[in-house]
Amino acid sequence: MSQPSTSPSVRPEQAADLAAARAAYEELRAGGLKLDLTRGKPSSEQLDLSDALLTILQPGDVKAADGTDCRNYGGLQGLPELRAVFAELLQVPAEQLFACGNASLTVMHDMVAHAMLSVLPGAERRWADEAEIRFLCPVPGYDRHFTICDRFGITMVPVPLTGEGPDMDVVEELVAADPRIKGMWCVPKYSNPTGESYSDETVRRLAAMPAAAPDFRLFWDNAYAVHHLTAEPTEVLPILAACADAGHPDRAFVFGSTSKITAAGAGVAFFGSSPANMAWYAGLAAAQTIGPDKLNQLRHARFFQDAAAVETHMERHRALLEPRFAAVYEVLERELGGIATWTRPSGGYFVSLQVPEGCASEVVRLAKEAGIALTPAGAAFPGGRDPRDSQIRLAPSFPTVDEVRTAMQGVAVCVRLAAAERAAG
Ligand code: PLP
Repeated sequence: MSQPSTSPSVRPEQAADLAAARAAYEELRAGGLKLDLTRGKPSSEQLDLSDALLTILQPGDVKAADGTDCRNYGGLQGLPELRAVFAELLQVPAEQLFACGNASLTVMHDMVAHAMLSVLPGAERRWADEAEIRFLCPVPGYDRHFTICDRFGITMVPVPLTGEGPDMDVVEELVAADPRIKGMWCVPKYSNPTGESYSDETVRRLAAMPAAAPDFRLFWDNAYAVHHLTAEPTEVLPILAACADAGHPDRAFVFGSTSKITAAGAGVAFFGSSPANMAWYAGLAAAQTIGPDKLNQLRHARFFQDAAAVETHMERHRALLEPRFAAVYEVLERELGGIATWTRPSGGYFVSLQVPEGCASEVVRLAKEAGIALTPAGAAFPGGRDPRDSQIRLAPSFPTVDEVRTAMQGVAVCVRLAAAERAAG
């Protein structure tokens, strides 16, 4: 096969690097791999940890602590005993927490839809009657948040992350000046994909900052509240309390779920907020359902008697996840030191890899041709466009440790080739 030529100004070492990188890549491609590092899905071993949920209820054992028959209609706010367990973990008083359906993403989506169609507490009008709605989007962020904005025609305003949450100087200035900014996506703990957690100062400033829009809301997606990867869990200040203390009691919508605690897709989602927001939401949710799946909530309440039981369960997840993350670091350190940088999160599901500017799309393309599926470059940015084309999200939870290692060796080969091609011009 003929090799693509290099420009005449290429130095001999560069030409040698490029030839070596091309040869390594051809070898990789010939290997016929079929590996996937795209989405943060739990592995089947992780799902096995909650298999007791499949048999935990027996005929005749279908009543909640207050005598409610969980097979029947009703109970819009969800089972009190389950709310009590997750109230502590999500830092929301149990009486301010709803236990909902199977996916927090549904609740986030519906919350935007409700705000479009019904006047939020504090709002002057429905969002659908505003000329334009804007949301602040810390980047890199979670692509499905951006999909919700796309669906409702919400303009996304990217704001940089700092390692301790969003750049608060930028956020404060924008939110104070622009009444079109009605919302902000926040993943406060072990953020997707950077793994960072919001500092106390970030939380306090988000709670206290003046907002031009009287109905500005923080969409506080605490998806990774208990998903630690080290023995020292990170603590983030409780947002509802911080907002109430700062005189903005209705500012935060808190979301969470057991998707990555029990069964992804068959867990329980939660929504917490101020009494005024709760009353608003309850009125609207009552038009959608006569009540959530209380049998699934009862299963979860039986499985987790208290918050400590959830923490113990998460230790078992950690034991399965840690070696996979370690395999990622081992390969990155050996193969890409000096070429790329990456995060070492203390929780969550992702490693964020920074490759040389202008190379991320090419790395993802090369990997795909070699049989390694990576999240599309730019997916963590509004509109799918990373202005520097350098960020790649790695999700090592689903494959086996050996597969993670093999996939990462392949990714390293692709990064080396893309970087060498670019350096050679
Ligand atoms: N929020 C974040 C930040 C996530 O990373 C994910 C899943 O990857 C979700 C929400 C999805 O949550 P759920 O399964 O409760 O819809």
